[in-house]
Amino acid sequence: MLDYLVRNACLNGENALVDLAIRDGKIVEIAQSIAGDAPCFDAEGQLINCGFVESHLHLDKACILDRAKNETGTLAGAIRAVANAKSGFTEDDIYARGARVIEKAITEGTNAVRTHVEIDPGIGMTGFNAIKRLKADYAWAMDIEICVFPQEGLFNYPGTEELLRTALDNGADLLGGCPYMDTDPNGQILRLFEMARDYDVDLDFHLDFDLDGSWRHLDEVAKQSIAFGWQGRVMIGHVTKLSVLSKPELDDTIAMMRDAGIGLTVLPATDLFLTGRDHDHSVPRGVAPAHKLAAHGLCCTIATNNVLNPFTPYGDCSLSRMANLYANVSQLSTEAELENCFAMVADAPAKLLGRSSKIAVGEAASFIVLPAQSRAQVVSEISRPVWGMKNGRVTFDHPAARLHRP
Ligand SMILES: [Zn+2]
Repeated sequence: MLDYLVRNACLNGENALVDLAIRDGKIVEIAQSIAGDAPCFDAEGQLINCGFVESHLHLDKACILDRAKNETGTLAGAIRAVANAKSGFTEDDIYARGARVIEKAITEGTNAVRTHVEIDPGIGMTGFNAIKRLKADYAWAMDIEICVFPQEGLFNYPGTEELLRTALDNGADLLGGCPYMDTDPNGQILRLFEMARDYDVDLDFHLDFDLDGSWRHLDEVAKQSIAFGWQGRVMIGHVTKLSVLSKPELDDTIAMMRDAGIGLTVLPATDLFLTGRDHDHSVPRGVAPAHKLAAHGLCCTIATNNVLNPFTPYGDCSLSRMANLYANVSQLSTEAELENCFAMVADAPAKLLGRSSKIAVGEAASFIVLPAQSRAQVVSEISRPVWGMKNGRVTFDHPAARLHRP
């Protein structure tokens, strides 16, 4: 007995349409014209793919434009505005704003998220507790991985390390960093590697978030990644400094990151909004060339980062839109280039979060249906998923738009 049949599905790279049979939350058969009278969904020749995976998203400080304005449009202005607003955050407030973002993300086809949660003596465990509740309450549609990190610094904010350790003892999945906010950046990097070793968790740094190519923290992260044997367990986000490197400099940096097993998350909406504010014309775009790193086998992802806050006053939580934004800024257009952009919001972040991105027999029946025939088309047209399933249960749908002709 089957639970569902999905008919006429287009799988990436396959010419013929297939049917998917689903039982007990899993895909149990993929073939042309599967017989059976189970309840049926007609995919109508549309693309079926694993859901999008958001590898870097701040739920705790989302949707606060009503109370926090970035007066300068700079990174410093955003940090200042959020730090001020944070003193008014309550657990229920964080929960409500986070829920709004998660629900948007679900309807945009995302079914897994790595969320960065601020921990310091000011906010204490308030944000962490709210996100843990969200993780439990939305598990039916979204898998949430919690990355705790010291947004306001570690060594300059006594008590932060103890709270981070408490979070790691109580269900945090990994540890983030923000060395540019610390009075001792290299000290923060070293301490975070030590804590990662203590708890056997991965690391995910906010790093090198400006356009000055004369210095950077990446070299220290690479050095410690090798020293601690943490290759393949370290991500770095933003790294807008990569956008100002010449080709030989970038080639050297890619080789160093490969040796150190470091991956890159690019956050186009935030990077475009905050960087280059000291230019009044020919504003540099500050988006790291993730596709060039991905071409050398590095784990590269594109993510949303912030939604409707002083870091990024935009946001629909659409990763097909974010992939399109990256492609546009990076001047990518061929089928292979756009396919690669899709991979950076699906396959690569799925792998990063330890998930399968395959549509295959034996895999969980967790996927989205996209009104397109190829993944490149999804990126070029910013296709919005029409419905999706997690573990064999439909979690959202968007009825197709209809014309009302005269
Ligand atoms: Zn971030």
